[in-house]
Amino acid sequence: VLPASLAELLGGALASKARQGELTLPMGAPDRIFDYVVTHSEVQLGDQPSRVACLTFRDITERRRDEDRLRYLGGHDPLTGALSRTRLIEMIDEATPAGRDVAVAIVDLSRFRVINDTLRHSQGDLLLKQVVSRLKSMGPDAVARLGGDSFALLMPGTTPDKLTGFCQTVAQWLAFPYQLANGHQAIIAASAGATTSQVSGYDAELLLSHADMALSAAKQHTGNGMELFTPEMDRRLKDRQEMDAALRQALAQHQFTLAYQPQVDIATGELTGAEALARWTHATLGPMSPSAFIAAAEETGLIVELGRWALQTACAEAANWPREIKLAVNVSPVQFELSDVVADVTAALESSGLEPSRLEIEITEGIFVRDAEAMTQRLQDIRKLGVSIALDDFGTGYSSLSYLGQLPVDKIKIDKSFVRRLPGDSEAATIIRAVVALGEGLGKRIIAEGIETADQAWMLQIIGCTLAQGFYFGRPMSALDFTERLTREPVRLAQSA
Ligand code: C2E
Ligand code: MG
Ligand code: MG
Repeated sequence: VLPASLAELLGGALASKARQGELTLPMGAPDRIFDYVVTHSEVQLGDQPSRVACLTFRDITERRRDEDRLRYLGGHDPLTGALSRTRLIEMIDEATPAGRDVAVAIVDLSRFRVINDTLRHSQGDLLLKQVVSRLKSMGPDAVARLGGDSFALLMPGTTPDKLTGFCQTVAQWLAFPYQLANGHQAIIAASAGATTSQVSGYDAELLLSHADMALSAAKQHTGNGMELFTPEMDRRLKDRQEMDAALRQALAQHQFTLAYQPQVDIATGELTGAEALARWTHATLGPMSPSAFIAAAEETGLIVELGRWALQTACAEAANWPREIKLAVNVSPVQFELSDVVADVTAALESSGLEPSRLEIEITEGIFVRDAEAMTQRLQDIRKLGVSIALDDFGTGYSSLSYLGQLPVDKIKIDKSFVRRLPGDSEAATIIRAVVALGEGLGKRIIAEGIETADQAWMLQIIGCTLAQGFYFGRPMSALDFTERLTREPVRLAQSA
């Protein structure tokens, strides 16, 4: 097929005396690549021994093209042409021996999911391509796509001020409208986190993880935020990881218990119910503060399991109490966000056999911040089970008083920060009086929490508060102590709580 080239190849091979190799010959586009082997041997031609060369060759052009394509795909994102994470890491590693300072920024798009969901995916693809070309136009050494809508930029090391300015410009530039197909226009926002090798060192994975930590911090404030990494972020994350591990272990090793604090009729002091409060005794550190470990469990999401455990355990224990008083269980806003609280409540009631009317779920105003409508529905579903709802820590949140009438809650718990100011503080007394009046008007029961003295109890009774909880009436106590108190106290006619 290729006589001229074959001759050329053979001549070349003989002349160079190469025994094997590769040749690229300009035989049309693309050039053909050949892999060849030359063997020399003696043959008898008539009486004369002669030397001949035998050339074996193979056209490997296609194979080479496949290999190149694979190498490209390994190093690039096929959609946008941006580098892959692996290739980016290689590039950072290449800067290390040269001692060149580098800066890494991770950019994350917000609202991209909405575009992908509302328009077609092809429109989302179009947008991503434009994002990459905008990022490239900013002049970094490299642009990589780390995941769905997350990108990394590699730049020469620079000062913190310049890096901040650069990231802010990137975020602003990405926030300009995008022209998509069929006349569609899209607007997205971006946040960025960045670090430099001066701060984070040359380890590529560490640089990226520090930039990522800065990004998480940036995302916590609204708008087109950006943050530079600080060692403080690393420490916070490590503390959080340690706390998370400790909480998980505590859950697995049954280090949590529930304490029960009496809720009473303020006039008679009679027990009407109890609030279950989580307690954690750490193996070496001893008793841990509930506010601190609940907050940590909320941050890591472990509150879902912890809350489920609390609900199950409290219902099971209350089902065995010698008197049928009410049980209040706290449910965190994070549980509402991350899990199906209605299903958890149903399961706890079923497995314990507790009468639904004896259970009360304590929520805080925090649950209405995100999606008030969905939360209202969720609470109504819980009430349909026959379970009541109490609004905890009332007065510390943001809900306006006028809003209160629309919330599906049966009871309002006046926060201890108001009760603490009694009896001397007339302003606190006025606020409590207003909440009691409002509760009466809206048909909601009122309980005051954090009552520590007889004076406070007396004043609340005068104001018209009917239910109370606080150290004055009883501290949170172990399940055993609480059952004993229930047994010891004279049984009176059950009072509604
Ligand atoms: P909370 O639901 O408002 O619970 C009442 C807190 O006030 C309890 O703190 C209780 O010990 C404390 N307290 C009761 N009476 C008095 C008093 O007279 N004076 C003072 N100074 N304090 C009083 P604790 O047990 O430290 O719990 C703190 C918070 O942790 C709870 O506040 C609740 O928000 C949360 N928490 C506790 N257990 C759980 C749980 O199982 N699940 C969830 N999601 N949160 C829980
Ligand atoms: Mg509570
Ligand atoms: Mg409270």
